[in-house]
Amino acid sequence: PGENVAVPQNFAFESNSQEPVIQGEKFHFQTEVSRLMNIVINSLYKTPEIFLRELISNGSDALDKIRFQALTNASALQTNPNLNVTIAVHKDKRIITITDTGIGMTKEDLQKNLGTIAKSGTSEFLETMSGDKADMDLIGKFGVGFYSVFLVADKVRVTSKNNNDDQYIWESTAVDDFTIAKDPAGNTLGRGTQIAIHLKPDQDQYLDDTRIQQLVTKYSEFINFPIYIRRTKT
Ligand code: ADP
Ligand code: MG
Repeated sequence: PGENVAVPQNFAFESNSQEPVIQGEKFHFQTEVSRLMNIVINSLYKTPEIFLRELISNGSDALDKIRFQALTNASALQTNPNLNVTIAVHKDKRIITITDTGIGMTKEDLQKNLGTIAKSGTSEFLETMSGDKADMDLIGKFGVGFYSVFLVADKVRVTSKNNNDDQYIWESTAVDDFTIAKDPAGNTLGRGTQIAIHLKPDQDQYLDDTRIQQLVTKYSEFINFPIYIRRTKT
């Protein structure tokens, strides 16, 4: 168990009613990922806000990586010289986007990083967690990561552009599988990653700019890059 299985035929999905249908390749989550997602969702539903901490931290890691790469290859930065994280709330569409101008992910990165678990100790962690009672201390130490986004999202679209590949879109509703498609819009990011979170019906609190601002202040203490919040009228 635990392999990504590519389904040969193309698969059509619609990211939201405003956007065109995209043809994508379908993949199954590694078994361990599905188990981790269940643990995260069942143990942390009382503190869904931590998704923002995890996504800001991933953006910051990605920015660290491109800055490090630029030490030996200054031209790596040219695809997007401004290093930051930008959060935007689209109330009308019920979507929050978190965009970083970090290193970005190739198609292969998207498939591996957001579909399997490479972290050492994961099996051990899942073994310990398989009982009824969730050990919150252990969950905290393990770091729940990207998949915590499904605490608040019923659909997530990750658009990413790495210097070594075209821009790709990863999308999932967390149920068993995800799709990856080349972005028909081409390279709109320059470089980096955009996470578009389609909020669950009961997670409207994250459409409030003030609430987002409060959480960013709380979770950005040790982040060494600017974090902007783009306020929208609607
Ligand atoms: P961790 O950050 O502990 O490695 P996560 O679940 O948070 O675990 O993320 C998994 C992996 O996905 C990261 O290690 C990274 O390779 C990739 N990733 C996630 N978010 C981003 C991002 N914004 N930019 C680039 N890579 C990312
Ligand atoms: Mg992380």
